[in-house]
Amino acid sequence: MQYTPLHHVVIIGGGFGGLYAAKALRRAPVRVTLIDKRNFHLFQPLLYQVATGGLSPGDIAHPLRSVFAHDRHVSVWMAEVTDLNVPQRTLTLRDGSLTYDTLVLATGASHQYFGHDVWEQQAPGLKTVEDALEIRRRIFLAFEAAERAADPINRQTFMTFVIIGGGPTGVELAGTLGELAHTTLKGHFRTIDPAQANIFLVEGQQRVLATFPEDLSTKAEVALRRLGVTVRTNTVVTDIHNGTVTMRHGDATDSIRARTILWTAGVKASGLGATLAKHTGVELDRAGRVRVEPDLSLPGHPEIFVIGDLAAFVHQDGKPLPGLGAVAIQQGRYVGDAIQQRLQGKTPQPFRYINKGNLAIIGRNAGVADLGRWHFGGVIAWLLWLFVHIVYLIGFDNKVLVLFQWAWNYLTRKRGAQLITGKDPFPLADA
Ligand SMILES: Cc1cc2nc3c(=O)[nH]c(=O)nc-3n(C[C@H](O)[C@H](O)[C@H](O)COP(=O)(O)OP(=O)(O)OC[C@H]3O[C@@H](n4cnc5c(N)ncnc54)[C@H](O)[C@@H]3O)c2cc1C
Repeated sequence: MQYTPLHHVVIIGGGFGGLYAAKALRRAPVRVTLIDKRNFHLFQPLLYQVATGGLSPGDIAHPLRSVFAHDRHVSVWMAEVTDLNVPQRTLTLRDGSLTYDTLVLATGASHQYFGHDVWEQQAPGLKTVEDALEIRRRIFLAFEAAERAADPINRQTFMTFVIIGGGPTGVELAGTLGELAHTTLKGHFRTIDPAQANIFLVEGQQRVLATFPEDLSTKAEVALRRLGVTVRTNTVVTDIHNGTVTMRHGDATDSIRARTILWTAGVKASGLGATLAKHTGVELDRAGRVRVEPDLSLPGHPEIFVIGDLAAFVHQDGKPLPGLGAVAIQQGRYVGDAIQQRLQGKTPQPFRYINKGNLAIIGRNAGVADLGRWHFGGVIAWLLWLFVHIVYLIGFDNKVLVLFQWAWNYLTRKRGAQLITGKDPFPLADA
């Protein structure tokens, strides 16, 4: 019998897009190599819980290798892709190379500081486990330093938190920080009252949660105020320097001194998009996303698919689909099916995103839900958010553990993972 080598599908990125593409191919007559520079899939929607001490990193990450342990045709490689040779269908890895028949690029996005990359040092973003741990370190260290600060102005600066960007991540972080200050840390300190913390949420647009219906933005702002968060809309940050955030609101300029400044204002696509553009001439949008065909392939290169946060898919209503886990999951599944259809000589139907709704959570029991014709806030939205996020958590053991952890946090109003970690735990001493 003659041996026919299986068609080799290489997927770069084990986030939502890449993971679901690999899952869709696990029983297909192809050989799959899933490459990620990390050895785990990260459930990014719950990163803010790690950043605020509610969950530990292991609760929201799952080893990629274990997901495919029983799928003989799926190999997982921990490697970083640095370049690609499109004519030769070869990837350059930091420490090797790999050839493919079909390539799926799903390397996601990172923070965007709109030309002010120096701000990153003072205002970290939230995208990776390391980011979440660094933010957690800064938040809890600020309360520790405030407790010991002799100078009242210094103490005030330690107890001031500025979150820049009022999208879902900024709203979720600000709400949880408000809850932390008002409820969780109550009675933990002797010289400060954590409830006196000043928490600012700064948003350049007219309202927070600008992609949600207007009534939900209003509900979110009300819920945030109840948690002690000061919301500043129509306010653009013009500088971050030496712990001072300078802002413009109309013609007025203002500044806030704060030791903890967090950035949730913008994203830019992974650098592999630009690498692909350099080699193929494909068009990128302003966020560096790759403009794809209706079947998510690259113009002129049907053997390359781009999905998730890295793709600019404009074929549905003229604007790119939002950078959401739901979009990446649906695109991953679609590409897995499309590859199989093509191998059978069929032409796949164009991709179509089915929007099942948008959710955001604000503190312990408030949320907003936009389900198209229905939108509502309050506890029901919060419960819906909880249900959806638990259902999508990878790995059964994770789901049960996280649910238990959550229920415990809810009942006891505690957050058990308030650890200050890192090499230098004392950079915030009273100056
Ligand atoms: C804090 C936060 C909260 C969010 N909340 C929500 C939410 O509530 N609901 C929602 O729907 N969406 C949410 N999102 C958005 C959602 O997480 C993203 O849209 C989704 O993760 C995109 O999936 P992806 O597969 O395109 O990329 P990612 O999930 O980012 O995965 C990219 C993968 O590629 C790997 N990679 C990158 N470069 C390379 C390389 N050169 N070589 C090898 N591997 C590489 C990375 O390690 C990573 O594992 C949130 C995002 C963040 C950051």
